[in-house]
Amino acid sequence: MKQSFLIKYGEIAIKGKNRYIFENALVDQIKFALARLDGEFEVTKEQGRIYVHTDGEYEETIDALTKVFGIVGICPTVIKDDTGFEDLKKDVVEFVARHYEDKNFTFKMMARRAKKTYPLDSMEVNAALGEAVLYSFPETSVDVHDPEVKIFVEIRDKIYIYSDEIKGPGGMPTGTSGKGMLLLSGGIDSPVAGYMVAKRGVTIEAVYFHAPPYTSERAKQKVVDLAKKVAVYAGPIKLYVVNFTDIQLAIYENCPHEELTIIMRRYMMMIAEHFAKADGCLGLITGESIGQVASQTMQSLMCTNEVCELPVFRPVIAFDKNDIIAISEKIDTYETSILPYEDCCTIFVAKHPVTKPNLKSIKKSEKKLEGKVEDLFKEALETVEVIEVK
Ligand code: ATP
Ligand code: MG
Repeated sequence: MKQSFLIKYGEIAIKGKNRYIFENALVDQIKFALARLDGEFEVTKEQGRIYVHTDGEYEETIDALTKVFGIVGICPTVIKDDTGFEDLKKDVVEFVARHYEDKNFTFKMMARRAKKTYPLDSMEVNAALGEAVLYSFPETSVDVHDPEVKIFVEIRDKIYIYSDEIKGPGGMPTGTSGKGMLLLSGGIDSPVAGYMVAKRGVTIEAVYFHAPPYTSERAKQKVVDLAKKVAVYAGPIKLYVVNFTDIQLAIYENCPHEELTIIMRRYMMMIAEHFAKADGCLGLITGESIGQVASQTMQSLMCTNEVCELPVFRPVIAFDKNDIIAISEKIDTYETSILPYEDCCTIFVAKHPVTKPNLKSIKKSEKKLEGKVEDLFKEALETVEVIEVK
């Protein structure tokens, strides 16, 4: 074991018994993130703190940890046995020697004595350790008001020394806020939507509608790849792949073409809701944004929403495309999203789709599917393929 990290997490949502749920979920997610890397690691909970001990590569470890929701800060930490105060002085001096090539900095000692039997109190520890550092490195100076470096020394059963804090992603650990069903297309918006909701602790499942032979195997693979990229943050994703071809053809043959997209979207929502309910999901998630395309005007959203009983969460509803793209670049889904494979929606799309669909008219058009679509609907549910994406 070469390196330890103190994991800091937000304290707000974790009062009472929620604390255990939060911490256990965080430990699980850290394990999931590190299992992908080479090297042995251990995640421990010690006196209300979470530590990672690993012999894995430093940069890789940091990179993986900065993707675990719930982590606020990652502190590379030196852990020592308590072998007396003289040893502690040496350890702190060695810590400074190793961590700071350039010793021209101001610092403040931040000792915390959690072990009350320790012979010195925090003030005394600070004074003596500060003196030891100043003595060994005369270039340093103390600034208690606005130091460039804070050196934390926590005296517990063991002694923990750290100074840097690398920023974590924040949010809540996946698995602390129930489950949601993401409608995941190959586009830019829905992976971002899934990422955003996962950041609030929601476990993500996903459903993708494809239309073979109109959409290809590689279009499907693209969605699996996107799910993988979201899973780096969100944890494993159960992905339903629904064959939507026959339903789309039925709509195409029986309904007015300008209403195709809306009716199709309504069927997508119904099918997604079916799997969502079966798995105990508490809501659907889409990448819709007001006004982005004809099927995302307020009127269109109202029509698609109308078929659902579960709440539909649309985290990017008020985002401009550029803002969504910025997130997709940050989470590394953008390059995959812009691969130019055909999408089931674009294939049957009308030249002039309604931008202000009328719900009554849509429902009237859907009547023409009666007696034709029910079996296809059932078949779509029965022939679903389930992929466990990790
Ligand atoms: P995205 O970039 O997410 O594909 P978009 O701007 O292309 O969004 P639409 O194609 O209108 O928008 O889709 C709106 C939303 O409907 C998507 O964000 C997604 O949640 C869902 N959706 C669209 N097509 C599919 C599909 N083939 N499978 C699963 N969900 C889909
Ligand atoms: Mg799309």
